[in-house]
Amino acid sequence: MKGQCRCGEVTYETSRDPVFSGYCHCHACQKRSSAPCTGFVMVPWEGSTLSGETRTYQDLGGSGQPVVEHSCIKCGSLVLMELKVLDNIVAIMASTLEGPNDFIPESHVWLSSQDKRFEIQDDLLKQQGPPKQMALYLARKPV
Ligand SMILES: [Zn+2]
Ligand SMILES: [Zn+2]
Repeated sequence: MKGQCRCGEVTYETSRDPVFSGYCHCHACQKRSSAPCTGFVMVPWEGSTLSGETRTYQDLGGSGQPVVEHSCIKCGSLVLMELKVLDNIVAIMASTLEGPNDFIPESHVWLSSQDKRFEIQDDLLKQQGPPKQMALYLARKPV
């Protein structure tokens, strides 16, 4: 998978398979994107590359754990976030992905803060809190 910010200054590439893809409805995502939810793909970052200058900002994720956001210094697009609580996993913002089939969402998460004015009409798994898939992934993660 590869992708870039709006202006092309920041690009990234990963050969890893996603461990989770979905829509996050947490307050932090609503604020950072000014949208009811954001689409994201979580991948192990090892062996991936991020090129171009990013501005970093440390914020708190849905679980109250630190996340480091990387945004383009020119156009300001948020490209990806390092999830400090999940060792070496990054959340790529789906809107920056190049391939139309790179984002295959499997679930909605953090629906506890869903903007109810937007009705969900898909049949994806609905989770009130964080993705349970990540807990499973961490449990079987090779050390
Ligand atoms: Zn840019
Ligand atoms: Zn979120």
